[in-house]
Amino acid sequence: MADQYSFQNPVTQYEKISPPEQTQPEPGLDRDLKPLADLGADSYRGTGRLEGRKALITGGDSGIGAATAIAFAREGADVAISYLPEEEPDAEKIIALIEKAGRKALALPGDLKDREYCVDIVEKTVKEFGGLDILVNNGGKQVSVDDIADITDEQFDHTMKTNIYAMFWITKAAVEHLPAGSAIINTTSIQAYNPSPNLLDYATTKSAINNFTKGLAQQLAAKGIRVNAVAPGPIWTPLQPTYGQPMEKLVEFGQSTPIGRGGQPAELAPAYVFLASQESSYVLGETLNVNGGSPTP
Ligand code: NAD
Ligand code: MG
Repeated sequence: MADQYSFQNPVTQYEKISPPEQTQPEPGLDRDLKPLADLGADSYRGTGRLEGRKALITGGDSGIGAATAIAFAREGADVAISYLPEEEPDAEKIIALIEKAGRKALALPGDLKDREYCVDIVEKTVKEFGGLDILVNNGGKQVSVDDIADITDEQFDHTMKTNIYAMFWITKAAVEHLPAGSAIINTTSIQAYNPSPNLLDYATTKSAINNFTKGLAQQLAAKGIRVNAVAPGPIWTPLQPTYGQPMEKLVEFGQSTPIGRGGQPAELAPAYVFLASQESSYVLGETLNVNGGSPTP
């Protein structure tokens, strides 16, 4: 596992992976990724930057959300994670790591496409932790389809519901509970600006998430609630081998980025910590690109 704290060359800090051919049914499990992803469990060191904070992270069982959950807990926050019931094995591991960091954990299995569930996870987090002051809208659906003729209405609807409606429902439910000082962080993507032709529905949602972030940031600024986004590039997570990309793209995973390799979830967590913590008090409506150097607007 790479060390995130020693001075070193970021090109070689994490392995340049060429994943072997593999597929998993959606949503996929982190524990079955070949090779395993680095969530920072063996490396992330907290420095008390989120002491006493109360966070809710969707998609917190695996990938970027899981790395963020581990980092938040080690920075001193209680952390609730939302995930699909099929992801229980991944979620149990992350819950255990949050508790090992000495923080409260809350497991919230369910479906983000369901409005009631989205409202309920906010209420349950507030009740269990006695409040909420960090919301990370990170759960997402990505299924690669080459031709618009083959994107079913069902897929289009499910991608919109998971990536956009859930963010709207959860954020709307959360805002009334968020005190001044709170942070909302949405996971967008490089796809918001550089859409791949095979990710038409997905890339559309990521552009919407960026726009929603910048609009809402202005709306909530005067209340002292900061809204920002993180835009990852190619990161090795279960999203990829669950039909998120065609297999031929996966074997050269992330190698077309300027840094020449795909990223690990561990490399994303510090961006979320920064945007959640008071250190970013004057950062609002920003999209922090963590993508290995691909140019962005
Ligand atoms: P991931 O598969 O580990 O995380 C996505 C999570 O979304 C799943 O763990 C699952 O819990 C959740 N989810 C999906 N559908 C759901 C539903 N209907 N109900 C409840 N939960 C649901 O993969 P990841 O790459 O860490 O994805 C996290 C975020 O990062 C997503 O928003 C994704 O679009 C974004 N992203 C990822 C990459 C990448 O290369 N991996 C790049 C850019 C953006
Ligand atoms: Mg998962």
